[in-house]
Amino acid sequence: MATEKTFYLETFGCQMNAHDSEKVIGTLRQQGYRQVEAEEDAGLILYNTCSIRDKAEQKVFHRLNDYKKLLKQGKKFGVLGCVAQQEGEKIFERAPHVSLVCGSASYRNLPQMLKGLEDTLPENQPPEPRSSKLTAQSLVRITGLDDRETDECFETEFTARTNPHRGYITIIEGCDKFCAYCVVPFTRGKERSRTSDSVLAEARQMADLGYSEIQLLGQNVNSYKDSAGKRSFAELRAAVGEVPGIKRVRFTTSHPRDFGRDIIDTIDAVATLCDHVHLPVQSGSDRVLNAMQRLYTREQYLERIAWMKSAKRDISITSDIIVGFPGETEEDFAETLSLLDEVGYDAVFTFKYSPRPNTPSLALEDAIPDQEKSRRLEVLMARQREIQITRYQRYIGETLEVMVEGRNNARAQWIGRTSQNKTLNFTAPATAAPTIGSYVPVRATGSFPNSLLGELVV
Ligand code: SF4
Repeated sequence: MATEKTFYLETFGCQMNAHDSEKVIGTLRQQGYRQVEAEEDAGLILYNTCSIRDKAEQKVFHRLNDYKKLLKQGKKFGVLGCVAQQEGEKIFERAPHVSLVCGSASYRNLPQMLKGLEDTLPENQPPEPRSSKLTAQSLVRITGLDDRETDECFETEFTARTNPHRGYITIIEGCDKFCAYCVVPFTRGKERSRTSDSVLAEARQMADLGYSEIQLLGQNVNSYKDSAGKRSFAELRAAVGEVPGIKRVRFTTSHPRDFGRDIIDTIDAVATLCDHVHLPVQSGSDRVLNAMQRLYTREQYLERIAWMKSAKRDISITSDIIVGFPGETEEDFAETLSLLDEVGYDAVFTFKYSPRPNTPSLALEDAIPDQEKSRRLEVLMARQREIQITRYQRYIGETLEVMVEGRNNARAQWIGRTSQNKTLNFTAPATAAPTIGSYVPVRATGSFPNSLLGELVV
């Protein structure tokens, strides 16, 4: 009797990584593997890693080190994702118990890589306890490290989606922008788009399975280019929004340089496209934007914000900001603060600059002390919090449609999400309790800096 093939997968990082993991899980299941919840129960332990933040690779190596003891039980280890791509075969040197290193641009080759790995697995009986000393068997080394040559996206019909109501669809992989601080062009390869027909086919399949919300994913969705030349990004979003059964379409992430007016026009034209745009600005200073190689000015960014503000629908706007980029002066930082006031964001994700391997900004001196970066971050977050208090208050008294995402029993509240991507916690009479995944009207009765409070409209 052959030993059952089992795997454990842990995922770090962004939505792209989360969705990659869904595809990897589907691929492994298709190859006869069963997913388990604990490392101890798995024959194969995989880490889908993220390298966007400082010290990401050290964290991965620490983690791998912790699990070296499991080698005695005959387990195999694999590193996936951005740290795999970034560190490559160096992983085998620092963590010799690792058998598989695979960057995201090579996931389509996973079945062959798994086969190679299986050929080394002990068969027909539970693994013999072995010494922690590396054996020839544990030294199998399989890499999938595509560089920027590949033109293919990783598409699979076996995606194992984790949420039964809302799901991701990747429309474009990789990035060609090379912002000075960013590792993504080096870890996820060059831009490559799926055909709009294949994206639409996946959206229809999801709708048939009962999904009602779709999030279109890409490192830079605005660079989407249908290789069959049929639809622009805005047209593709509109077409996905018109698939029967789909009630909400979101997208992330945008780059301001490629962000066209048509994206806003389609939000006005197609009711299912959500009233939310995440448009990372990173800095309010032209000098810093130039040093970051962001390819737009503050004025051009604000032009896009003006399109959103002139839309018929009330679009919520969110952004990413980095503080402490090399050379950022107090004046530059003050311009970022003034941009917050000018835009009036609904939320901002803030980060301290940290130099990343291979990136152009590594050549710049990272001279701003960490303490000063932390101070700027705190000032920024405090200002944004004030803005959000006002932004959230504007909904009080309004009735908003929410998708019911869960229930907080301790508070006797339901958890909903609005089209504008706001959490709205609400009460409902027991006789009208909503079901998870349904869409219900809720009247907002109170607000906090990060959420709304309300009651179901019966
Ligand atoms: S657009 Fe810039 S920040 Fe975004 S993934 Fe590409 S290089 Fe990174």
